[in-house]
Amino acid sequence: SSNRGSQGIFQRRSVSGRVPADLGRRRLRIVVTGGAGFVGSHLVDKLIARGDEVIVIDNFFTGRKDNLVHLFGNPRFELIRHDVVEPILLEVDQIYHLACPASPVHYKYNPTNVMGTLNMLGLAKRVGARFLLTSTSEVYGDPLEHPQKETYWGNVNPIGERSCYDEGKRTAETLTMDYHRGAGVEVRIARIFNTYGPRMCLDDGRVVSNFVAQAIRKQPMTVYGDGKQTRSFQYVSDLVDGLVALMGGEHVGPFNLGNPGEFTMLELAEVVKTVIDPSASIEFRPNTADDPHKRKPDIGRAKELLNWEPKISLKDGLPLMVSDFRNRILNEDEGKGL
Ligand code: NAD
Ligand code: UDP
Ligand code: UDP
Repeated sequence: SSNRGSQGIFQRRSVSGRVPADLGRRRLRIVVTGGAGFVGSHLVDKLIARGDEVIVIDNFFTGRKDNLVHLFGNPRFELIRHDVVEPILLEVDQIYHLACPASPVHYKYNPTNVMGTLNMLGLAKRVGARFLLTSTSEVYGDPLEHPQKETYWGNVNPIGERSCYDEGKRTAETLTMDYHRGAGVEVRIARIFNTYGPRMCLDDGRVVSNFVAQAIRKQPMTVYGDGKQTRSFQYVSDLVDGLVALMGGEHVGPFNLGNPGEFTMLELAEVVKTVIDPSASIEFRPNTADDPHKRKPDIGRAKELLNWEPKISLKDGLPLMVSDFRNRILNEDEGKGL
């Protein structure tokens, strides 16, 4: 097909009447599924700031209008309440596909990873858009290779409690490559490692949001298992830079996008103590089944081919989410009449 690619074919000549000076290129029309969520809303901010038109598709399963409310009224921004499990017709240049129930407490409920990805790939095929899948480090399962390179095939339990997420994303990667090879769709795959920052869901059970919220609420931080399992935590603006570099670049991937700094959960609790409350305590809880023992990205490929690497360390990034968390916790408490 002749209209394939991110050539700005659906670009409208200047809705606002002005194209920012840094755009030596045409304005793009971009869909962000899951754009009302944590990562999506930061991505949308960046795309709007550089002058593109953004359409968010979100069913508000875990996302919130609050994350986007500052863009309401912007003529280059549009928000559609829609479940990507259902087909949708749009004319766009690029699709960032983030929609997914992404946390352990939510992801069991939904076939989004398979049906949603299929629909967005169908859309990309029909209009010749470039499609970017936000996959996850969880495709590596409980890894037998450390750190994880993109060439590693993973160690995933197909019937475990986490498998609808792990295997859902693995299937999404498969579909993405099938549409690439079979239908010539331009695709990009990011494998995202644990990411944190402002607008993270408060109560979705992720370790960073749990510890930060608990420390602010003066509750003990809940360490699962012995706390010696490791993760690598990336600040959200680094991830957004990586996603945009990947979409704009020439390589399909998959690319690991994460911060290689590796911490045990006990070490993370120490950083949270230093940043928020030196008197914060910890409390041990049983761990969940199939919890990966360690995880750390090898980001050599992204460094070399995307010229990308994270800039913000955990120590510098954690303080950047504290005021957002404090405000939201305060509002919640006020809502309860406390
Ligand atoms: P999030 O829960 O904040 O955002 C997901 C968004 O998708 C929400 O706004 C939700 O309402 C929306 N959504 C869910 N199901 C939908 C559906 N069927 N139709 C339309 N919208 C739907 O999560 P996030 O942390 O921002 O994650 C974004 C993406 O990044 C996800 O695909 C996730 O798997 C991936 N990822 C995130 C991390 C991380 O640490 N945050 C790590 C690895 C991968
Ligand atoms: N699809 C969509 N929007 C489009 C084009 C397709 O939501 O603009 C959906 C379509 O309904 C189908 C899926 O994407 O469920 C895959 O589409 P494709 O054309 O690849 O498959 P087919 O319809 O031929 O099975
Ligand atoms: N975890 C923890 N306390 C919590 C929440 C999570 O110790 O309150 C642990 C969890 O067992 C896992 C790690 O922190 O080993 C990261 O969990 P998260 O759900 O944030 O990310 P994922 O497991 O998807 O990497």
